[in-house]
Amino acid sequence: MRILLTNDDGHFAEGLQTLRGVLSERWEVVVVAPDREQSASSHALTLHHPLRVDQVENDVWRVDGTPTDCVLLGMLGAIDGERPDFVVSGVNAGSNLGDDITYSGTVAAAMEGTLLGHPSLAVSLFGNTRYDTAAQVTAELVALVQDNGMPPDTLLNVNVPDVGWEELSGIKLTHQGKRTYSEQIVKKRDPSGRPYYWVAGEGPYWETDEGADFSAVEAGYVSVTPLHLDLTNHRAIETMKDWEFGKR
Ligand code: MN
Repeated sequence: MRILLTNDDGHFAEGLQTLRGVLSERWEVVVVAPDREQSASSHALTLHHPLRVDQVENDVWRVDGTPTDCVLLGMLGAIDGERPDFVVSGVNAGSNLGDDITYSGTVAAAMEGTLLGHPSLAVSLFGNTRYDTAAQVTAELVALVQDNGMPPDTLLNVNVPDVGWEELSGIKLTHQGKRTYSEQIVKKRDPSGRPYYWVAGEGPYWETDEGADFSAVEAGYVSVTPLHLDLTNHRAIETMKDWEFGKR
């Protein structure tokens, strides 16, 4: 099996490098990753300029584009003619929990893999120290997916506590949690008096919710959330039924 490894922190990031080391002990790994940090790039696609791809070393390519660009280039065989079987995105520096996954370039890369019909994992560390633990967890999950397959149209969003392997409480299947918003916009002035703005704020904070991704990670468990790309609110279709209108 050949794994495409990408991330949104850049091809040089410690999380990706550590994961590459661990995964390549068991599988073929090709890295196609952004040439700079692309965190919070979400599912952006580059359509208005050509993409440049540079080989960094054997089986490592950097792209002047987004994580989604990287998955498309890599999975469609555009770079070296090979089409990998599996997408792994990460290990991200910092968690991707609850509503924050909508901003995440890490999760979007796995979404793109899913859209292309391949099993895909996004892996994030709840901190920035024990990438070794997250890499080991990822290898276990890749093996589980290889043995059992993945439910259709589903990707796994994995968040790992920032502790040693021995200190992990275990693995929990979770649902996407809810964030309590604390964003603020900080307004300042530049030397010529023009205002500028920083998106800032404390936190993130999470609603207490048993079974949610955040609760699992806080209790020392690896959180595994199966996600799908159907954003439809099926219950709302029922409650809004009488909004429908038709001439026939
Ligand atoms: Mn990132």
